[in-house]
Amino acid sequence: MNAFISVDADGALQRASDIDRRRQAGEPVGALAGVPLAVKDVLCVRGGPTTCGSEILRDYVAPYDATAVERVRQADAVLVGKTNMDEFSMGSSTESSCFGPTRNPVDPRRVPGGSSGGSAAAVAAHETVLALGSDTGGSVRQPAAYCGVVGLKPTYGRVSRYGLVAYASSLDQVGPVTKDVEDAALLLNVISGRDPRDATSVDREVPDYRAKLDEGVEGLRIGWAKEFYGPGLDAEIRAAAEAAAQRLAGAGAEIVDLSLSVAGDPDYCVSCYYVIAMAEASANLSRFDGVRYGFRAEAPDDLQDLYRRTRSRGFGAEVQRRILIGAYVLSAGYYDAYYLKAQKVRTLIRRDFERAFDNCDLLLSPVAPTTAFPLGEQLEDPLQMYLNDIYTTSLNLAGLPGISVPAATSAEGLPIGVQLMARPFEEATLLRGARVLEQAA
Ligand code: GLN
Repeated sequence: MNAFISVDADGALQRASDIDRRRQAGEPVGALAGVPLAVKDVLCVRGGPTTCGSEILRDYVAPYDATAVERVRQADAVLVGKTNMDEFSMGSSTESSCFGPTRNPVDPRRVPGGSSGGSAAAVAAHETVLALGSDTGGSVRQPAAYCGVVGLKPTYGRVSRYGLVAYASSLDQVGPVTKDVEDAALLLNVISGRDPRDATSVDREVPDYRAKLDEGVEGLRIGWAKEFYGPGLDAEIRAAAEAAAQRLAGAGAEIVDLSLSVAGDPDYCVSCYYVIAMAEASANLSRFDGVRYGFRAEAPDDLQDLYRRTRSRGFGAEVQRRILIGAYVLSAGYYDAYYLKAQKVRTLIRRDFERAFDNCDLLLSPVAPTTAFPLGEQLEDPLQMYLNDIYTTSLNLAGLPGISVPAATSAEGLPIGVQLMARPFEEATLLRGARVLEQAA
């Protein structure tokens, strides 16, 4: 599947036998003891390559562990390797990696989704049990849906971003990619919580996400917003969402019809997301200048030439496009028309969700408008690729948590996921709802 960029076979076996020995000696072991776990190659793992799927970081070795990685290590997970991804997490298909595309284990002629496509494919292909991904605009949830696994984007601030190579800092979150909802709860338990090294991580109690998993949805109000079912959505995916609503209702939830005229409108969400994400990316990626990290062009004439040739060769086409657009929307004369306006729309999206959550506890929606598409199909059309994100970006803009859970299989045999969204820090409620859907499916 080409799900991995690097595999640490010796390290994994060593760690596994250490854990076996500790168990036999009757010593305590952590919550993930002995469980294989793969890490998206955007999270730093000390002493090994962290490439972000980019030529510019092909030979970069991280000198420290990301906090999420440190926490899974402390819980005694067995790190098996680093998973493939769209270059710097910019994409929806895992085709822009400099290590070649990842394939979808359900149908290897198709993409696994992205950008955490390697993590989703590795879990779906049983090449690992747990995986970490990152989600800036859907990168955990959409590949999970395409590969038929569970993907959770936590509330902004729930999980530390320390050691996560930044794409768009106000949107990025680390999240679990797992075979089922219980594993997602278990992994979220381990990675959540305040970290003094990430000032945006929130100091708030981490409940045991497994404790209430089986409490069901009786009495919960599930919001159904008509805006999510507009043009462009596959009929089979709409039917899967309707069936999911029925299942939740059958389990005692109340379905509430409501309207999300801003947060449910892809015209606002996708445009606003891509302006803000690219603006932040253009600033974050300025650190890759050939001086401090990774690849450096040889024999430069002067400093400008060093920057120009390093960045032209080191970054792929999509990353260059985004740096250009990001720099453009931030530049004097365009800032008010694009960046500032996008920030205002972002506020309206957040308020729209707040209003919706006055009347419901969870929102139900599709994850993506289609099932996994064939490799190469959308590569020449960036706008088409961006439209994969019409149901996922709004949550990142509002900072809310969401989960993608397998709900059905298409006539072609491809997985269909549905998404549940919740108020900030209501991951426990999300997981309860997802558990009901998973059991029904
Ligand atoms: N597909 C979206 C993008 O390209 C989201 C990616 C992500 O969540 N990292 O920006």
